[in-house]
Amino acid sequence: MGCSEWKYLIVSCPHCGGLQVARAGAKSKTCPYCGRRFSLLKAKVYGKARNGREAVEIVKILKYKKEGGLRKYIPSDDYGDSLM
Ligand SMILES: [Zn+2]
Repeated sequence: MGCSEWKYLIVSCPHCGGLQVARAGAKSKTCPYCGRRFSLLKAKVYGKARNGREAVEIVKILKYKKEGGLRKYIPSDDYGDSLM
């Protein structure tokens, strides 16, 4: 038991918003989605992980949440009140 250092960061690309894993301590990174380089110091950090597997898991969960939020199904029942 010592200091539990975070080795990976889960960040989103400021250009395309793609979630990805970055090495903690790195200053910049090339986005695998849009191919553009961005500064990790300015990127939004969504999570931290101690190993690669943990990092991938966090990305998966975040992506799932993001998609779920964007594609939230709105029932068309709302029309009912205004029509009748
Ligand atoms: Zn990107």
